Amino acid sequence: MTDRSEAADVRREVEAWLAQWWDPERPLVEWRGLLADSGWGCPAWPTEWYGRGLSPDLAAVASEAFARVGAVGSAAGAGMALAAPTILEHGSADVRGRLLRPIVTGEDRWCQLFSEPGSGSDLAGLTTRATRDGDEWVVSGQKVWTTGAHQAAYGMLLARTNRDVPKHRGITYFALPMRQPGVEVRPLRQMNGRASFNEVFLTEARVPHANMVGEEGGGWAAALTTLAHERGLPTARMAAVPAGGQGRTAREAAAEAAEYAKTYEWYPQRAGRPDLVPSQARATGRAAEPVVRQEVARLLSLEKAARWNLERSRASRAKGRPGPEGSVAKLCASDIARSAACLHAEMEGARAMLSGPESPLGGIVAEIIVSVPAGSIAGGTDEIQHNIIGERVLGLPKEPSVDTDVPFRDVRTNIPRS
Ligand SMILES: Cc1cc2nc3c(=O)[nH]c(=O)nc-3n(C[C@H](O)[C@H](O)[C@H](O)COP(=O)(O)OP(=O)(O)OC[C@H]3O[C@@H](n4cnc5c(N)ncnc54)[C@H](O)[C@@H]3O)c2cc1C
Repeated sequence: MTDRSEAADVRREVEAWLAQWWDPERPLVEWRGLLADSGWGCPAWPTEWYGRGLSPDLAAVASEAFARVGAVGSAAGAGMALAAPTILEHGSADVRGRLLRPIVTGEDRWCQLFSEPGSGSDLAGLTTRATRDGDEWVVSGQKVWTTGAHQAAYGMLLARTNRDVPKHRGITYFALPMRQPGVEVRPLRQMNGRASFNEVFLTEARVPHANMVGEEGGGWAAALTTLAHERGLPTARMAAVPAGGQGRTAREAAAEAAEYAKTYEWYPQRAGRPDLVPSQARATGRAAEPVVRQEVARLLSLEKAARWNLERSRASRAKGRPGPEGSVAKLCASDIARSAACLHAEMEGARAMLSGPESPLGGIVAEIIVSVPAGSIAGGTDEIQHNIIGERVLGLPKEPSVDTDVPFRDVRTNIPRS
């Protein structure tokens, strides 16, 4: 619990800092550089790494002060949400020093190069290889489903660096520079017509040894940190531009957010749009039907409970202890999205399949129906979340496995390997 006088001290300090430095006409990157160097951009981060070592409650006091004057905050996205906490926990001082600051300023965007065509749920079975060549590693293989790879400067790359040890122990985590000849990004078109993720082909791509995050062969521990931060995180989006923000900084932040948001435009539909359900029940004349009313009430109650659970998950993540609440939150989000999509379809009937301006909600209902399945796959499928909850929360026996104790090169698989 935060002491009131501590909160008052932080408020005074941040207000004084803002009074001295916040200038709405400052170029965005310059402003965010000040945020990084002062620690006010990420106040919950350690003081030696662009933060002020504040508790989540006190960090919230700081962001309220920012909101009051309409000051723009640090950048958001996969770099801030996933790469930064992983680097803070596992990165060397050199990696932290070089890679964190441009995440805070928004100069470097990141993507997550984990999944492969043959390794999604079985992530530790990945076959992309990295071989040491002097001060660099040479990487070849294929990644898939890589959200935002087309905009990223760096990829959180998992690559196999040792095939003679069991699968979880031969993986290394790298910060891969994306803009180089060995990295080819090809967009994938989804059934909702969007193309927010990509295939990434790595052909002798190069990554400096100094960009290793964690130990050689210790990438699995770092990957678990990234994944834990991904769960309970329905969307990794650019932070909202402050309401009513005026001036050059706010304009540049708004333009950046709008450009970045293109990748995530369909994400509200992916969540099933439960917010539209009550008004749709009235608009379609179904609100008085007992079965529809019952389902609407069930959905909204579930959503409220899930929101509280998500707060719990956020609080533990902010304390650097992302826990199993994240898996529960993710499962709830899938369930709510599916229930909302079913209700939208039930209320509209066959019209729910129509897209275009004359269709229900201008095509939003149709987009909901084809987007909702993504939520129960991305960031670990529902079945995998059930396994995590079963094993880590309920203490049930571990899922049987035949390939965790043998050297990776002896694991039987249908994935072609050289
Ligand atoms: C919108 C979206 C964005 C994504 N963005 C990224 C990204 O940026 N970076 C990235 O690396 N990946 C990304 N992914 C990939 C995502 O992490 C994988 O799709 C997911 O982990 C599942 O892997 P898979 O598709 O290979 O399915 P598979 O693992 O092949 O699963 C197929 C089916 O088998 C079930 N199954 C598999 N194993 C088990 C088991 N042990 N027990 C019970 N059931 C099981 C699964 O639940 C699923 O129903 C994204 C996916 C989506 C949908």
